[in-house]
Amino acid sequence: MAEMPEGLNLNRRDALLIAAGGVAGTMMAPGAAVAQGQTMQASSDTYPLAPGWRRFKHGDAEITVILDGVRPGEGPFPTFGEDKSQDEVGALMAANALPPARFANFFQPVVLRMGDQTILVDTGMGAGGRANGLGLLNQRLGSAGINPSDVTLVVLTHLHGDHIGGLMESGAPVFANARYAVGKAEMDFWTSDEAKNGPRAENAKMVEAMVVPLANRTTLLGDGDEVVPGMVARAAFGHTPGMFAFEVTSAGQRLFLMADTFSHFVVSLQRPDWQVRFDQDKTAAAETRRRFATLLAEGNIPFLGYHLPFPGLGYVQKDGDAFRFVPETYQHLAAG
Ligand SMILES: [Zn+2]
Repeated sequence: MAEMPEGLNLNRRDALLIAAGGVAGTMMAPGAAVAQGQTMQASSDTYPLAPGWRRFKHGDAEITVILDGVRPGEGPFPTFGEDKSQDEVGALMAANALPPARFANFFQPVVLRMGDQTILVDTGMGAGGRANGLGLLNQRLGSAGINPSDVTLVVLTHLHGDHIGGLMESGAPVFANARYAVGKAEMDFWTSDEAKNGPRAENAKMVEAMVVPLANRTTLLGDGDEVVPGMVARAAFGHTPGMFAFEVTSAGQRLFLMADTFSHFVVSLQRPDWQVRFDQDKTAAAETRRRFATLLAEGNIPFLGYHLPFPGLGYVQKDGDAFRFVPETYQHLAAG
């Protein structure tokens, strides 16, 4: 989803950023507002109210979602429901209390602390996004008490620009002590002549600049590979030829990082078969959505979606022949 229309309006963006923190803000404890906009002490039992990041415990793992930025614009048609009419997509939006022709895309890398590992999953837009108020990962890692040099492993779900843009600053790796992991099929595709010479050549160029220089520190993953103990790669092909979701299990509790499988909280679940412009293989992407939605719904397993409204954490329920998204509210808030 690297090539969304801009349509950026600073005031609207600021309003959205406030709204992104404001969901939690409605449940804010007295005194918590003091922490907003300041550096907060990282603590696993803080109900995280700072705009821009949210931390929760899952089993013994500590998980921090970092908001790299928000991009409001037109949509979701034709990015979502490309094979439908604008009216049909607009009607689905209206039925869900959403504006018919406006859409906000969120970008959310995740940090997992498991065992002795600090794992960053995807890296946001990086320097290339800053003119538009994106690329805030590094700054917000700092407010969440995480130093880039703490990161031991960077996992890339796939190699679109909005996931790899934060790997390098001025040509130097940002995560100086990290190793890297990415799907082998994904790496093979983006370094192929087909990718370099086809309609996706711009993205292939970015892979060449951001990912290929790290190859000697990179592990190439296959379906079912264990990235670290408790984190397993699960094929989620379609959006790209080698995208992986990641199944995280800690103290017997499961959580899925779904990358770009479900990128609109209404369309992707309620209309999983509708075509999405940025899905390279539309049929495979729809099959992947149905397969994972069924798995998540049957197990009542929480998941994180990279592009869902902040913090992109929620559940899937079956609804007739399709599904619906249930956002996380207080399921992960530790008992008093
Ligand atoms: Zn994306």
